[in-house]
Amino acid sequence: MSNINLATTVSDKPIDRVLGGLENVRQKGDQYRAKCPVHQKPESRKQTLSIKENPDGQVLVHCFAGCHYEEVLDAIGLKRGDLFPDSDWLYEKEPNFKSLRQVIDDCKPTATLLQVYVAEMMRPKAWEVIAGALNLDKRDLWILKGAADSLREVLDA
Ligand SMILES: [Zn+2]
Repeated sequence: MSNINLATTVSDKPIDRVLGGLENVRQKGDQYRAKCPVHQKPESRKQTLSIKENPDGQVLVHCFAGCHYEEVLDAIGLKRGDLFPDSDWLYEKEPNFKSLRQVIDDCKPTATLLQVYVAEMMRPKAWEVIAGALNLDKRDLWILKGAADSLREVLDA
């Protein structure tokens, strides 16, 4: 980990994206300190901003003067997502997104199975057997088919 040429280095790493937009960056142990782009005066040489890289590549930004990290990001042209490694921040670093994604993935095989099953039931010969056995009328089956189609469409299964 080096902070040489950060300003001119094009990097996909969140730590480089963040440090590249900051001034007066200095490494201190396992973290960096820098000038806060939000509240510090142009001539100020203080380093009130703390920047830390987690082992998973996520970057934490903290201003000791109390600026919100999103204000800091805004000041250097970054978004919240820029604090996370590119490929996986959406699905792996956000608990809500992760669980939703997991639910969708879990549902896909079921949705596919349901649609195949309903399509099978819609065939004329199968219909006669099923209508008798399950006491379904044709309207029930159309509703079921519509639900199965919608489900697959939503899940993109
Ligand atoms: Zn600040």
